[in-house]
Order: sequence, then C-alpha cells, then structure tokens
Amino acid sequence: MKKKSIVILGIETSCDDTAVSVINRDRNVLSNIILHQKIHEKYGGVVPELAARLHDKYLTKAVNMAISSAKIKKNQIDAVSFTLGPGLIGPLLVGASFAKSFSMGLKIPLISVNHVQAHILSQFIKKVNINKNSYPKFPFLCLMISGGHTQIVKVSDFFKMDILGSTLDDSVGDAFDKIARMFGFSYPGGPKLESFSKRGNYKRFIFSKPLVKGLDFSFSGLKSHVLQFIKNKSKKNPYFIENNLYDLCASIQRIIAEILLEKVKAAISDTGIFRVSLAGGVSANSEIIRHFLVFEKQNKKWEIFIPKKKYATDNAAMIAITGLLKYEKNIFDSVNVCSYSKFQRFY
Ligand code: AMP
Ligand code: MG
Repeated sequence: MKKKSIVILGIETSCDDTAVSVINRDRNVLSNIILHQKIHEKYGGVVPELAARLHDKYLTKAVNMAISSAKIKKNQIDAVSFTLGPGLIGPLLVGASFAKSFSMGLKIPLISVNHVQAHILSQFIKKVNINKNSYPKFPFLCLMISGGHTQIVKVSDFFKMDILGSTLDDSVGDAFDKIARMFGFSYPGGPKLESFSKRGNYKRFIFSKPLVKGLDFSFSGLKSHVLQFIKNKSKKNPYFIENNLYDLCASIQRIIAEILLEKVKAAISDTGIFRVSLAGGVSANSEIIRHFLVFEKQNKKWEIFIPKKKYATDNAAMIAITGLLKYEKNIFDSVNVCSYSKFQRFY
C-alpha cells in the first residue's frame, strides 16, 4: 500500500523575516517564501515593534503564497509548525498566534519549534547543501553562526543535542554587523563587508584573536580593537577608512574565519567527531566556507556540510523540516504553549 503523503506548513517570525514554507514527507521543500522587512536598514538594526507589526501585516499573504506555490490545497496540510523561540518576543507572538489559530481552524496538530534546533536540523532538508548530497550521519558537530547565536553543538540524534561551546558575549553575526556599521554600511552589514573584502588584502591589518579557553567564543574584544584602531588612525587621517576599506574588510573577515575554524578543530580533537555542518546566516560567508573546504581537502577524515544560502539564513523550511521530524515522532503541542525570547535548552 502506498504511504500517505504528509504535508507540513512551517512559519518563522523570530526576527525580521516573515517566512513560510511547505515540506513533504520525502523532505522535499515544496515552497519557501521569505518576505524581507527592508524598513530596519535605515535604523541600523531590527526594531522589534516594527518587525512585529510587519509580521502581522504580511503573514497571511506569506501563508497563501506558500500554499499556492506548493500547489497544494489548505486541507492537505497535516500539521502546522512554528518558531516558539528564541527570538524577539513581539515577532514570535505574532507567528505563534497565527499558527495556533490555523491549527484550531483546520483541526490539525500544532508543533512548536526551537529556532536554533531548526537551524541545525535544516541539514535534513533534501538537497540542502552546496557541496554534499547525503545527510550527515550521527553524531556530527554543528557550527551555528548567526545574528543571534554562536555555538558548537554536538548532535547525537534529531532531538539529542549538547552545546559544547558558545559565545561569552556578542554573536559572530553581531560582530560582523557592528564592525560593518563602523565603516558606514547599513544593516545587515555582514554581506556588505564580505563583498568589499573580495578586493582587499587580508594581510594588511593584524587584529588580535581573543584568548578564550575551551570551545567558547568571544567577539566583543575584536569589535573594540577595531573601533579603537580606526579611531586612532582617523585622528591622523580623516579619510583612513575610505582609503583602506577593502583591506580593513578583508583583514577582519579573515581573522573571523580563522577563529571559527580553530575552535571547530579543537572541538574535533576533543570529541573525535569529524563530521561538521555549518548553520546560520554567517555560514553564507564565502571566506568562511573556503577556510572549511580547504581544511576538508587537506584532511581526508573530515566531512563538511555547507548549506545553500537560502537555508543558512533565517527561513521557514528549517521550521517545516523540524515540524516533520517531530510529527513522525508524534511530538505535538497544545495551544497553551508559551513563546520565549531567550535560549534555554534544546527540546
Ligand atoms: P541569521 O540570524 O541566521 O538570519 O543570520 C543573519 C546574520 O548573518 C547577520 O548578522 C548577517 O550580517 C550575517 N550574514 C549574512 N550573510 C553574511 C555574509 N555573507 N558574511 C558575513 N555575515 C553574513
Ligand atoms: Mg536565525
């Protein structure tokens, strides 16, 4: 007998992207809608209340777009999954209220999802990576690098994850964005810093690496070092940033890539686990990708899994795949489940 097809709708509203996706039981993404909120660019960062209001305005449209581009009917959806947290509480509540109403209206199960766990589980979307077709075997390590998080996680099973190291202060995405802002780039500055780096000489400026024990990270020192450095230089030459922008960007990007790779190497030697996936928006950075791929080439045991950009940054396909994996294990939620802003633990 042919197995029933399963269709899961995923909703992501933890920050400034209104995202909805539909996935089927074969882990194929049938649609992946992202409506970016451009309004935040002019404020230099995400304004939580504006983000919540725009999610409220766009979510119904995004859900309709996801359903029609998946070429399904609403009554074919078996469950709705949504981001419960962590993230900005206003935006999260908009997504949660929508998902709860949708589940009650259609009488289908409700599945809440931890946003960070979803970034990690995005590895189980079909054809998710730019460099591999297979799913990583358990256990594997995940380097989670995004605007909100910087962690090395040991993934023993779909829902058995342990954090081996995390940032003690800023996330790596935040470091990219704040340094980029010093150079006059609008939010999010990470991708702009990357594009300027392409024409720069990374050897021009040497910034010191943070001395953090174990597998933890720290990026606030690098940020202050860059700020102090450009302040001093600009006193003597007011055009210092303009004259050296490409080299500054390349030098900063390079040191961040080195810091990340060094920590992952340490995690590999501590755990003996050689499979590593990248996740989160910063894993779209080509210099970071290059660093990891060069190392994979030099070390036959290593297996690096690098997601396509559309699955690395915030998206709803990762919420839908996590929803599917929970659905298969009959893990559902009641409408009383509460959103949370701070990361507490994996579920
Ligand atoms: P996420 O929180 O996963 O959506 O990722 C957003 C973060 O990733 C922001 O801090 C961006 O600046 C950063 N980011 C996105 N693309 C790049 C890139 N190519 N290089 C560096 N940072 C990036
Ligand atoms: Mg994210």
